Amino acid sequence: PIDQTSGTPDPSVKVVVRIRPKTVNEKLGDPTIKKVGEDSVAVGDRKFSFDSVLDSTSKQEDVFKLVGVPLIKDALAGYNASILSYGQTGSGKTYTMWGPPSAMVEGQSASYQQGIVPRIFQTLFSEIKREKDNAVDKQINYQCRCSFLEIYNGQIGDLLDPTQRNLQIKDDAKNGFFIENLTEEYVTSYDDVTHILIKGLSSRRIGATSTNSRSSRSHIVFTCIIESWCKETLSNSFSSSKTSRITLVDLAGVERSKQVDGAREFERERKDVKRSLSHLGHLVNILAGGTQPDDAMYRDSCLTHLLQQSLGGNAKLSVICTVSPDIKDYGETLSILRFGHIIR
Ligand code: ADP
Ligand code: MG
Repeated sequence: PIDQTSGTPDPSVKVVVRIRPKTVNEKLGDPTIKKVGEDSVAVGDRKFSFDSVLDSTSKQEDVFKLVGVPLIKDALAGYNASILSYGQTGSGKTYTMWGPPSAMVEGQSASYQQGIVPRIFQTLFSEIKREKDNAVDKQINYQCRCSFLEIYNGQIGDLLDPTQRNLQIKDDAKNGFFIENLTEEYVTSYDDVTHILIKGLSSRRIGATSTNSRSSRSHIVFTCIIESWCKETLSNSFSSSKTSRITLVDLAGVERSKQVDGAREFERERKDVKRSLSHLGHLVNILAGGTQPDDAMYRDSCLTHLLQQSLGGNAKLSVICTVSPDIKDYGETLSILRFGHIIR
């Protein structure tokens, strides 16, 4: 929260809806949800408005332009900026955020499927290079470091070191906020970032059991901390420094019902996910109203505690609500749209 040179700031919370295309099996029948106008959707006889709506023909690039480009601007201006994907399992959260790992490798024919996160880093590094090259009478330095973690059943696991499955959040006046023993890797290029993404996403998949996808019950959080400073070449003095935090979150599925597994053994995980998401919604709602929730509220769940650095203060947040177009998902879709509408 440093640079405040721009006139009227963008609203701090932005909500975008993305409707996934129908699968082959869903092709028959009318779509349950329709985009009406630039920023509204109709479900049955109800209509909801958001900041933007992307219909089922939208491309990965459209999502990037809508929420990725502004995030890069904010982050380079010194703001903390985050994107969360929120939706039912199977609605396109993972596809939207990361895209298939194969699409991250440059020059692949599948690169149009590249998700918003790899696109962000591709552009971020070229912006950094441009800024450095264009600097006159000064030298601009950037240092970026990334971490990738999973919250499963209220515990933090390191996706870059799968032996670390119960990391602790440290938060005291003396040392500030950090996650003890979490791997942090310095990155200087798009390739460095995709290497981390591919590694982290594959450890998440290894954690999935055959009968029950663990990924639908875990939140995953990719963080990149950007520090920059500027040195005047003539006077050899440091003139400005900025720190910002980019946080990209693929949330657990928000099923209201037990339709995903129905197994009792997962009841605890389901409750934990539900609790953390409702805390998150509550906090975002307060932030969207222009007030700061107090510290204690963040500590109510592991997810919100972890996101305190990203959401509080002068931060920017975009929530992408992903929804299914199919009639069988009508109830879930309605509840996701209600959530998105409330937090706006
Ligand atoms: P979630 O992470 O919400 O559970 P996924 O991202 O895994 O859902 O998406 C479920 C399936 O739908 C995947 O096979 C994915 O490739 C496909 N899919 C989701 N969104 C889109 C989209 N916008 N375009 C094409 N395929 C999509
Ligand atoms: Mg997913």
